[in-house]
Amino acid sequence: MKTNPSDFTRRQFLKTTASAVAATALSPAILPAAPETAASSSSKMIGIQVGAVSFLDEGTEQVLDILQERGAVNTLFLATFTYGRGIGGRQVPGQPLPDHGKQEYDLNFHGGNFATPHPKFYERTTLKQTKAPDHGDYDVIADVLPRARRRGMKVYAWYEDNFGRDIPGVDKLREIDLSGRPAGTLCPLQPDYREFLIGLTKDYCESYDLDGVMWGSERQGPLLNAIDAKVGKGDPTRVTCFCELHQKAARERGIDVRRAKEGFEKLAKFINAAHEGERPNDGYFVEFWRLLLDYPELLAWEKLWTDSKHAIYADVYQAAKKSRASVQVGFHIWHVNSFSPFFRAEQNYPEIAKVADFLKIVVYNNCGGPRYASYLNNMASGILGDLPKEEVWRVNNEWLGYGNEATLDKLPTAGLSSDYVYRETKRAVAGVHGKCKIYPGIDIDVPTDAGQKKTSPEDVFAATTAGLKAGADGILYSRKYSEMKLANLTAGGKAVREFGTA
Ligand SMILES: [Zn+2]
Repeated sequence: MKTNPSDFTRRQFLKTTASAVAATALSPAILPAAPETAASSSSKMIGIQVGAVSFLDEGTEQVLDILQERGAVNTLFLATFTYGRGIGGRQVPGQPLPDHGKQEYDLNFHGGNFATPHPKFYERTTLKQTKAPDHGDYDVIADVLPRARRRGMKVYAWYEDNFGRDIPGVDKLREIDLSGRPAGTLCPLQPDYREFLIGLTKDYCESYDLDGVMWGSERQGPLLNAIDAKVGKGDPTRVTCFCELHQKAARERGIDVRRAKEGFEKLAKFINAAHEGERPNDGYFVEFWRLLLDYPELLAWEKLWTDSKHAIYADVYQAAKKSRASVQVGFHIWHVNSFSPFFRAEQNYPEIAKVADFLKIVVYNNCGGPRYASYLNNMASGILGDLPKEEVWRVNNEWLGYGNEATLDKLPTAGLSSDYVYRETKRAVAGVHGKCKIYPGIDIDVPTDAGQKKTSPEDVFAATTAGLKAGADGILYSRKYSEMKLANLTAGGKAVREFGTA
């Protein structure tokens, strides 16, 4: 079936207009409506991820002024639940502080729910106490939402799969690794974990008049983790999850649990030896393929785990829609999707689009350089160890559909290009066939190591323009306002305005 592109654009426009009208109707009457400023008049979603600490440090109205005027932002993605520093808190300690906000690190950052947990939503889970202690009773949604609405801005709750170790009851929900040890991550088959996320989603959608929610989980299954198909190396004996619930689910699928564990143990031994440069007699790739032949349980367990992760997307979607049908529901798609053809194969856009109104695809091109280099080096010292590194770089670029990116030795300092942003956005837009919206995540000052690629205004201008030109329904400045330099945010706003008038 072919879609006429101009029909599609008109339909999308009508849909956007209709939801804008609906949003106006829902606006609380507490504050008088202000006319939309020129700064927020883009018909596309121009979003930014921002955490509670920025509003407290700089003043809510002042932050909103900056975001509208400099970044042409019309939608806020408030970091409402996380125990991580990627989207919560001030700048990561050790990284240079940006030119706004308190000029000191929040070394005592704790995290949790930065809104107000309402107990009735957590009756079906043991995870009841998650209020972030960082800012007393401060509720970021209650503070920001009415002020943003008055300016014609939309507000989304943005929460991620990052749980503190000190939440009462959390220990029972931990994943179990290959060696039987509890992991830091929570098991996606644990009913209490799933009920918590359903409760949290309902709490956000029913306790607040939000425009949308976004859930993110930067995790993959045990096969991909064991072969280091990611950024940074891991321990292949610590892959997850082999808890009782996953064993039971495996048996129901006809997977032999003992054989699966044996396969993963052999795989771990092989990968650890590869890290030491011990080439198997028949070569790295043949050894890897032989393990897959001998133990098809390796792939079966990867699929089992991934299905359990994606079932939560459906949980979140249904919980939100049951609470309020108009609320927009979307998912943050992990950056590994840009590096690993293995993880990419699991991110089946049309499948995910069945339970999503939008997808934020991470296409951070600046930090993407060092991250991609890390992935390629992992492959070159693992299952693709038979190939020269330059060949691993070349063939992977071909697999992923990338053009003239920097060579492997230059990637950490050069970053990825805005052409990568364009290609990945276009692929996502084509992949979902209009079933959901695509918002590329644009990287503004995501931390990298000393000497590695840093973000410049030209980078943000080019990446933002590339995303919009590729047909995205909007863009999302990432990862958090508290680490962004103002000149870089301004360059994003300039790109948005120039695109809008082009
Ligand atoms: Zn499990």
